[in-house]
Amino acid sequence: MKYVIVIPDGCADEPQQSLDGKTPLEAAVTPAMDELAMMGIVGRANHTPQHLPAGSDVANLSLLGFDPNENFTGRAPLEAAAQGIELGDYDWVVRCNLVTIEDQIMNSFTAGHISSLEAQSLLETAQAEIASRPGVRFVPGVSYRNLLIVEGSEQRPAPFSYDTRTTPPHDLSDKLVTEDFPRGPGSGFLCDLMEESHRWFMAHPTNVSRRAGGQLPATNVWLWGLGKKPNLASFQSLHDVRGAMITAVDLLRGLAALVGWDRIEVAGATGYTDTDYAAKGRAAVDALKTFDLVCVHIEAPDEASHEGDVQKKIESLERIDRDIVRPILDRLKKLDNWRMMVTPDHPTYVRTKTHTHGDVPFVMAGDGIAADKIGLYNESNAANSDLYFPEGFRLMDYFLHLKDTRVQIHAATV
Ligand SMILES: [Zn+2]
Repeated sequence: MKYVIVIPDGCADEPQQSLDGKTPLEAAVTPAMDELAMMGIVGRANHTPQHLPAGSDVANLSLLGFDPNENFTGRAPLEAAAQGIELGDYDWVVRCNLVTIEDQIMNSFTAGHISSLEAQSLLETAQAEIASRPGVRFVPGVSYRNLLIVEGSEQRPAPFSYDTRTTPPHDLSDKLVTEDFPRGPGSGFLCDLMEESHRWFMAHPTNVSRRAGGQLPATNVWLWGLGKKPNLASFQSLHDVRGAMITAVDLLRGLAALVGWDRIEVAGATGYTDTDYAAKGRAAVDALKTFDLVCVHIEAPDEASHEGDVQKKIESLERIDRDIVRPILDRLKKLDNWRMMVTPDHPTYVRTKTHTHGDVPFVMAGDGIAADKIGLYNESNAANSDLYFPEGFRLMDYFLHLKDTRVQIHAATV
């Protein structure tokens, strides 16, 4: 039995006036996803419990079948896992964005999509500035996405707890930042680094040359999404299925590493709207030779939404359909036993440019899935389906084993 999951990150949205009341998914021409819908079922799931951040960290943990209420320990530990960073039981890791703040306004949560090399040079300076603080280190990642490790021990625990509150910088685009600095245990430590970084970076040669080239400077580090390492059971031990992940985003690589999936790196995959969709599609078809389950995550729709660009969002969905869903579906249809699902992790509204709590539509077809004849794959058809998983993490059991754990809940409460 072969399984494929395609995650167009953040593709769910609301009806747009500019699209005559359609959502980007409805407006996009997606014949392959619609073929899946005609062959199978369309439904809804919610992967963003109200009390947790509506981000890809919580939502994809749920999408992979793990209850985020029990397993979510913050975003940064997932990214640390992606980089193969071993965390001790008392260590904390913090997401460290390089950002552009001008007049207390978040001008860019990516410092103008700064390059990894430029980011590294700035973080080397930052590390030198904190050399006197033992057990604290900046870890460069990809472009603006970096980490800060704060080591702890039973005798000398780090100053944080799960009451430490931080704000994702992508939720502050074009907004005042003064009310959204970290709060709670250990927040003073984080705020000091965030404020001091302005002095470290002000006249930094990397910023001088970026300004000279008309690019945004990285003015500060923005610290958020902290946590300790999660203890996730291996996917194989839970489902007896060997999985692999195709993604360009550290968060998803980390999640895959923590559940024991292989990570397949694809040249040209960027985690942005200029990604090589066809290369990801080819890699997925190829991976089906080796793995029971192949998951393809595409960040482009989410990035387009963060930019408030509805046409770019539609284009990314049409590319995903043509270059990823189509070749995979055509390959699967030649096999005897298969099941395929397309689903985003959470909605990201083009209107607000931010992730949003809420239901997302999924489409599923293959072995044991009788067609529901609801029609095309989009939010409004999904809303008409009675196949609803309010606890989205229960969808994975349904997809893999056609096991509906929702029923047990209803039975228990009657
Ligand atoms: Zn996402």
